[in-house]
Amino acid sequence: MIIFPDLPHVEIEGVEIAEEITLTLRTISPAAPCPSCGTVSSRIQSRYTRALRDLPSVGRPLRLILHVRRFFCKKNTCAQKIFVERLPELCRPHAQRTYRLQKALCELGLKIGGQAGADVGSELGISGSRDTILRLVRQSHPSAQSAPQVIGLDDWARRRRLRYGTLICDLELGLPIDLLPDRSVKTVSAWLLKHPSIKVVSRDGSSEYASAIQKGAPQARQVSDRWHLVKNLAAGVSVQLTQSLTQLRRAEQAEAKTLDEQQPSPERQSHPRTRAEQRAQHARQAERTARYEQMMALQQQGMKSIEIAAHMGMAPRTVREWLDRGDIPYSGSRKPRTGLIDPYKTYLLERWQQGCRRGVQLERELRAKGYKGSPRAIYRYVETVDALSFSAHKSGSPEAPKPLNPLLTLSAPQATWLFFRKQEDLKEEERETLRQLRQMSPHLETTYQLVEMFLHMVRERTGEQLDAWLAAAKASHLEAFESFVTGVQQDKDAVLAGLDTIPCCVYRKSFSKRCI
Ligand SMILES: [Zn+2]
Repeated sequence: MIIFPDLPHVEIEGVEIAEEITLTLRTISPAAPCPSCGTVSSRIQSRYTRALRDLPSVGRPLRLILHVRRFFCKKNTCAQKIFVERLPELCRPHAQRTYRLQKALCELGLKIGGQAGADVGSELGISGSRDTILRLVRQSHPSAQSAPQVIGLDDWARRRRLRYGTLICDLELGLPIDLLPDRSVKTVSAWLLKHPSIKVVSRDGSSEYASAIQKGAPQARQVSDRWHLVKNLAAGVSVQLTQSLTQLRRAEQAEAKTLDEQQPSPERQSHPRTRAEQRAQHARQAERTARYEQMMALQQQGMKSIEIAAHMGMAPRTVREWLDRGDIPYSGSRKPRTGLIDPYKTYLLERWQQGCRRGVQLERELRAKGYKGSPRAIYRYVETVDALSFSAHKSGSPEAPKPLNPLLTLSAPQATWLFFRKQEDLKEEERETLRQLRQMSPHLETTYQLVEMFLHMVRERTGEQLDAWLAAAKASHLEAFESFVTGVQQDKDAVLAGLDTIPCCVYRKSFSKRCI
């Protein structure tokens, strides 16, 4: 009885340990009360065997084989002539799982939902299908079955990035109440039509859900979910941060190359490599990583590979290759490509140092000198110079070995995370990294300010500032905000409702706690 200290009148008959542990149990009480009338009976009618699943034991699934008895009810007037003895401490009548196991599955369902609960559970040896989990959640929270009024619609990845279902949560109870096989207008609107009690629907910014609600619950107020608003904003900002970090890495690479040329070494092509060479290699790899991250970010925004290629100025074949591979090919040493801008770089640098920072002016001067390339190349080089002067400013005396700029090893998601987290939650060194990141360029500082303003609106629910924010974001001409601003303008009523006090989708708690 060490295993079941709380079970009276049950004896362990056998223990079998294989892939799973099987315990055979027998009830030993001489009599049992009738569940209908309460009369205690000792007249056994028959015996039968129940199988139950229990919580795993020392990492192995635990199965109970339970020998129980049927009794005759002794009271003549009782409608129940025969009854099965109950084990109220262990399980419900007819259940296939113990209370303990049901409770664990229910908790999983409440925390992470039906399908994820089933997936995680099966890995932990707490087995139950998605339907079982959702049924248990409904049983333990009967109100989840009654007419919901405030619900949230959310994507539910059936297969990551391939197939999406729809998770429906009751936002007042904080419970998942249903799971639909897809996120089509037809399926979602059909579900909504069956639930006329709904007054508020929180959803992402997609047009699919918007039209499904329009069709299935026209009476409901549509609310753009705050979590998705912030997530969409972060996607745009992430692309911009990737670009900025790429520029910084390019600058580092260029500088390392210059250093290398300044210090010709007999060991240049042999091991160990010079420090400058290593840095160049490091920067090259970092740049490829950054490009790959940018690609992934654009893909997540829904861009096709051909569009990504155009956006990033890469060959479509390369983009497809990298994305298919899901990884970055190894970057060996390679010859730097010469560009149309190259012969003019010295001049540009000189003008920059003289204090001419206006792109239009610089372009005019270069054209006069015969430059035939794009204006973009000029801007890109100027930004490189800008980043270079930033890192040169950091490095102190030219003799001292230059410390590796911490921003070089920062990934775009890490950088984005720094922009979006609550200031008070940042550690000292994270704050310092964020400060340096903001100093990298005026664009990044503006981006940071706009993100902060938006998060303030979300956190404090000050929707009345939305128009001012949209105007500021547009005036910044920053690519990071372009598609976000368009999306918000098209869905403004729902966004304003989201910046009100209506509950946010609760299933993103950890993210919400730290960002919004
Ligand atoms: Zn009875």
